[in-house]
Amino acid sequence: MTTPEITWNLTELCPCITDPKLNQIINRVVSLADTFEKKYRGKIGELNHNELLTCIQEIEAFDTCFNEVTLYSSLCFSANMTLPETQALNDRVNKLEAKIGKQLAFYSLELGKLIKNNPGIIQEPALANYKHMLERVLRRVEHQLSEVEEQLIIEKDQFGVNAWEELQSKWLNTRLFEINVCGEKKTLSYGTANGLLSHPDRTTRESANRSIYGLLGKDGEIFASALRNICNDWVMVTKRRKYNSPMESSLISNDTEQGIIDNLLATVEEGAEIYRRYLKLKAKLMGLPVLGNHDIIAPLPESPERKFSFHQARDLIVESYSSFSPQYATAAKEMFEKCHIDASPRFGKRNGAFCASYYSGKSAYILQSFNGTLSDVFTLAHELGHATHDWYASRSQSWLNMRMPSVVAETASIFGELLLTDKFLQQAKSDVERKALICLILDEAGMTTFQVTARVWFELALYASIEKDEFLDYASIARHWTTARDRIYGDAVTWFPEMKAEWTMKPHYYMANYRFYNYPYVYAQMFVYSLYERYLQEGNVFAPKLEAALSMGSSRSPLEIGKTMGLNVASSDFWKGGLKVFSRFVHELEDLT
Ligand SMILES: [Zn+2]
Repeated sequence: MTTPEITWNLTELCPCITDPKLNQIINRVVSLADTFEKKYRGKIGELNHNELLTCIQEIEAFDTCFNEVTLYSSLCFSANMTLPETQALNDRVNKLEAKIGKQLAFYSLELGKLIKNNPGIIQEPALANYKHMLERVLRRVEHQLSEVEEQLIIEKDQFGVNAWEELQSKWLNTRLFEINVCGEKKTLSYGTANGLLSHPDRTTRESANRSIYGLLGKDGEIFASALRNICNDWVMVTKRRKYNSPMESSLISNDTEQGIIDNLLATVEEGAEIYRRYLKLKAKLMGLPVLGNHDIIAPLPESPERKFSFHQARDLIVESYSSFSPQYATAAKEMFEKCHIDASPRFGKRNGAFCASYYSGKSAYILQSFNGTLSDVFTLAHELGHATHDWYASRSQSWLNMRMPSVVAETASIFGELLLTDKFLQQAKSDVERKALICLILDEAGMTTFQVTARVWFELALYASIEKDEFLDYASIARHWTTARDRIYGDAVTWFPEMKAEWTMKPHYYMANYRFYNYPYVYAQMFVYSLYERYLQEGNVFAPKLEAALSMGSSRSPLEIGKTMGLNVASSDFWKGGLKVFSRFVHELEDLT
C-alpha cells in the first residue's frame, strides 16, 4: 500500500492551470495597472489627503488582485518546477511583474515627493489606516535619487554587483566534493555534501567539513574579489544615498533603530558565556575533551531516531498551539482542513520550506518536503506559526499593512516552535530523550543567536576596513571572520584550518543591495524568547495580548508592537530576558547530566 500524496488544494485561487479564470484575472490586472497609470502619473504630488486616500486604496486593490496571480503561479511552480505548464506560467507572470513594476515605479517616487514636501499629510485622520506605512515611506524618501539615477542604478547593477552575486552561487552549484561517507568515498554535489555536516558519524562530518571548506578555500581569492567588490559597491551607494552608515538602509527596512540593535549585539556578546558553557557540556556528553567545529550541530551519539507520520505531526502541533489558547490553534487547524499544505517530497519540488500569505482568502499556503523527522515536525510548527500570524493580521489589516519586517515576521513562527518544544519535553519518557531534545533546541538557538551575531560583526568589520582604505584580500577577510567567530566561541571549540573559509559559502553576504541580512534573525529569536518568558510568568492571560500584537501586521512599528505586550525592546536590559530562556535550557541539561 502506498501512502497517499499530501498536496495542497489551490482551487480557491483557480480551478486549474488551464482554466479561463486565470486569463480573466491577468487581463483584469493589466487593465487596473493601465487605468491607475493614466489617472495618476505626474499627478500624485498635487493630491490632497482625501484624493491620496483614494489613490492608496486603488493601488492596494490592484496589488491584492495581482497578488492572487503571482501567488498562484509561484505555488504551482514551487510544487512542480519541471512541468512545462508551470514553467510557462511562471515565466509569463515574471515578465508581467517586471513590466508592471516599471510601469508603476512612478507611484513610490511621486508619493515620496508628496510626503517630503508635505509631511503634515501623514497626520490627517482620513489617512489613519496608512499612517505608519507613510511614516516608513518618509524615512526612506531622503535617500531616494532622481528617477533617471534610480533607473541607471538598476541598469548598471545587473551587470555589476548582481554579476558578483551570480558568480558566488554558480561556483557553489558547479563544484563536486569528495567525501568519505561512513568509510565509502563519494563524489557529491554541494547540496548533498552540505547535508552531511550534521551526520551522526563523526568521521563523515570531519570529511564533509574538510572537503567543502578546503575546496572553497582553494578559490579564496575569487570569493574575496566578489565580496570586496560587493561591499565597496555598497559603501559607494551608502554615500550617494546619504545614509549615515552601511547599516542604516537595513534599519529602515526593518523599521528599527541603531541603538536597539547595538544593545542587542552587546547583550548577545555578554551572554556568549552561557553558550560556551553549553558547548563544554555537550563535549562531555559526546565523550570529547573539547568540541571540534564539526560537532557543534551534531546530534548526541545516543540520540533516539524518531519518526512521525504527517497526521501525528498535525496532532502534536495543534495540541501544543491549543495549550496556549484554543483560539490560537484555529489557523493551524484550518490549514489542514482546507488542504493548504503541500507536504509530500517529490521530484521537481522546490527545496526547503515556506509559508506564503493568501491575503484575499485570509489564509496561507505552506510548502515542505515532510520526511517524518523530528526536525520536519519543528519546521511544520514554524511555518504554521507564519500561517497563524497571517490569519490574525489579514482579519484586521488592509493589504499594505501586511508587510511585516523580518524582525516581526518571525514572531509567531519561533513562538510555535517553543510551544512544540514544551509539548515534547512534557511527553519525553526518558532522560536520554530529554537530553537529545534540549541539545537540539540549544544547537538551533545557538546558531541563530550566537553564530549569527558573529556574522554581523564580520560584516561590520568589512565596512570598517574599507573605510580605513585597507585592501580586502582572502587572508584579511578570513582574519575578520575568525576574529568575529572567536568572540563567540572562545576556547569552547577547536577549528580545522579550512574553516577560515567558512564565510565564502554564505550566499547572504553576496546579496546585491541587501546588506545586513543577519541581525533581524538574532532580534526575532531574542524577542520571542523574552515574549515566551512573559507568557510563562503571566499564564493564559497573555494569549489575547499576543493575538492583538499579531493582528497589528505592519500597521505599527516593532517597538510599539512589543509595547502592547509589555515588552520594551528599547529598554537597556530588555534583551537579557531572551538570554534567560537560553540559560534555563542549559540549566535543565546540567541537571540531567
Ligand atoms: Zn520563518
